[in-house]
Amino acid sequence: MNAAVKNCLKCKMQTMLRKTLVLAGLLITVAGFAGGTETGKKEGPQKPPLKTIIIDPGHGGHDGGAKGDISREALLALEIGLQVRELMKKELPEMTVLMTREEDKLPGNQTNKNAALRWRADYANQSGGDLFISIHLNASLSNQRYGKRQVGTKEETYYVYSGKGKKRKKIAKTRTVPVYEKYKLPATVSGTQTYILARDWYNLKLKSVGNKTEIYELGESDTLDAEMLQMDPVEARIRAAQYTKYFFQKSMTLASLVEEEFAATGRRSWGVMQRDWDGIWVLQATQMPSILIETGFVDNPEEEAYLASLDGQKEVARAIVNAVKKYKAMLEAAAGGNAAPAPASN
Ligand SMILES: [Zn+2]
Repeated sequence: MNAAVKNCLKCKMQTMLRKTLVLAGLLITVAGFAGGTETGKKEGPQKPPLKTIIIDPGHGGHDGGAKGDISREALLALEIGLQVRELMKKELPEMTVLMTREEDKLPGNQTNKNAALRWRADYANQSGGDLFISIHLNASLSNQRYGKRQVGTKEETYYVYSGKGKKRKKIAKTRTVPVYEKYKLPATVSGTQTYILARDWYNLKLKSVGNKTEIYELGESDTLDAEMLQMDPVEARIRAAQYTKYFFQKSMTLASLVEEEFAATGRRSWGVMQRDWDGIWVLQATQMPSILIETGFVDNPEEEAYLASLDGQKEVARAIVNAVKKYKAMLEAAAGGNAAPAPASN
């Protein structure tokens, strides 16, 4: 065994020890933050648990989303999103509120719907968002808005041929056929739904969270952040799993609060939902708690009128902001009340 190998072994031991310490520290801090204990707390000012919020009005531009009689989902989602931002700026001035789009077009100058979805999540991740709220409107008859019904019968002439060659004759005959009328299907479904990540898509979220490079958002110090970047894959996976679980629980908490607020305004609340059959990109690719709110059924004329009205939009925004305020208070309570506003970073 030569000196170089010996040195290497010593170095390996040191690395192992350092990694063990980092891992132990990580588990204590994540557990401490999630459980609200004092363990792992550092001296000095901490980043508040909720600082940057991303509001994401769904669709935009040529991707109009669900259709109503007089409006498109993309525009109403934008109008509601802008109301949410206005109210948050007024009532939560210490927070940074960012919009994925402020105009009726796809965000980030994207022209493709799927590229725009990726852009939304990337923007939220790069902005260091602590919470992602996507705003949409529903449609119960999204694929088939018209039905066909028989309204009577009529006589129809048709022709048959008999004979061959010069004897061939065309004979007119009549038959009775039904007459149909196209009519608009009545969209009677109404109410709100808030989606969180579905179980089947949990691993994709884990993968997204695993790519998260900024990790001090759970109240950690910058020193630990620098060490985290040197973690080996096993440690990184444990970290990602802890964060993903934490984000999932927080998403569920906020989603419940949103639906409770809607119910309190007299809306029909369908509660917290998960969509198993198809992923929801902005829920699975965001490295933060994330929810998608279906604020009502735009193809139901009554709800469309409500959601297109300023009063309706303000009421929806009020419900969302109330829920965020309650969520924020819960986070701050869990962080042991140690959530004095940090100096603004931008
Ligand atoms: Zn939508």
